[in-house]
Amino acid sequence: MGLESRLESPFLTTTVDAVINWGRKYSLWPMPFGTACCAIEFMGVVSNRYDVSRFGAELVRFSPRQADLLLVMGTITQKMAPVLKQIYDQMPDPKWVVSMGACASSGGFYDNYSVVQGIDELIPVDVYVAGCPPRPENVIGAIVKIQEKISREKAADWR
Ligand code: SF4
Repeated sequence: MGLESRLESPFLTTTVDAVINWGRKYSLWPMPFGTACCAIEFMGVVSNRYDVSRFGAELVRFSPRQADLLLVMGTITQKMAPVLKQIYDQMPDPKWVVSMGACASSGGFYDNYSVVQGIDELIPVDVYVAGCPPRPENVIGAIVKIQEKISREKAADWR
């Protein structure tokens, strides 16, 4: 029986999904895309005070090829928009996106022609984090929400 047909078997699919999702949710590789003050707040998230390694997401990567969790934090200008899109495209599947703060999620108070009014105009977003800036606890809460989402995913969907 090949891997494809095993993944379509209801019993084995559940078992394989559970193992794969368990591994994925506790070994997230975040890539910070920081352009403004929210990125400074993210330093608190990865510091020893908040200790994001408790959630398996402490190995911050600065290459999209090595990351599966894109954290967008800060104002995204129209000039920066193609860069963000390209970085998202360079990340291998499966991948997830967190929009951290008012600026990334809606443009914030930069309601003008030069600022993207929410990164979901460019890339799909899995979790939005409210705040200006959000507290580190809220960012960790977003990571937990991503983990919950991963738990519900099926390996076959990523083929
Ligand atoms: S949401 Fe607030 S803290 Fe975050 S980048 Fe925008 S202005 Fe700065």
